[in-house]
Amino acid sequence: MSVEPGLSSQLAPGATLLEVASASHDCNRCGLANGRTQVVFGVGRPDADLMFVGEGPGEQEDLQGIPFVGRAGQLLTQLIEGIGLTRDDVYIANVVKCRPPGNRDPLPEEIVACSPWLDRQIELIAPRVVVTLGNFATKLLLQTKDGITKLRGREFAYERAGIDAVLIPVFHPSAVLRSGGTALAQARADFVNVKRVLARVTG
Ligand code: URA
Repeated sequence: MSVEPGLSSQLAPGATLLEVASASHDCNRCGLANGRTQVVFGVGRPDADLMFVGEGPGEQEDLQGIPFVGRAGQLLTQLIEGIGLTRDDVYIANVVKCRPPGNRDPLPEEIVACSPWLDRQIELIAPRVVVTLGNFATKLLLQTKDGITKLRGREFAYERAGIDAVLIPVFHPSAVLRSGGTALAQARADFVNVKRVLARVTG
């Protein structure tokens, strides 16, 4: 579903993350542009070793222009802090940059239209570890039909256009909030594993 390497720099213009973010702000490539308050491009260190990719902005994210600031975001922040990092140490983005109406799932054509922005973010940040949060990010970046329950916690190579990263799928924080107990324990364990892999690849 993602755009071929090299094309993303034409479809997501700008030499730096700031320039690409600014170019994204008047994006009109899919219908989500009509209902958004603003584009939620991403937040964090432009040279982060660790990058998180979620699904798409919810209501709070759409209002504040920052990914993962609602309830799911609070849990993500806790999980990040639980492994001794802060949100400022990492980069956080989503598959789609504009809020789907009523928080519905993003449509395949919206994901395709938006993917150059994410591809370009990954190219410019060049993270060593990419954590996909839930099914949408995992399926897009791994180009797989397998679901998160099967893939979570495992390590995959993410090699593309000069990027050599380890990709680790984990449950989406919203799913953890819905399921509680065991899912939360699994998410915590997966984050400990993320920290271990991060130390290994950066050390
Ligand atoms: N869920 C997501 O996938 N992304 C956000 O930014 C917020 C909630």
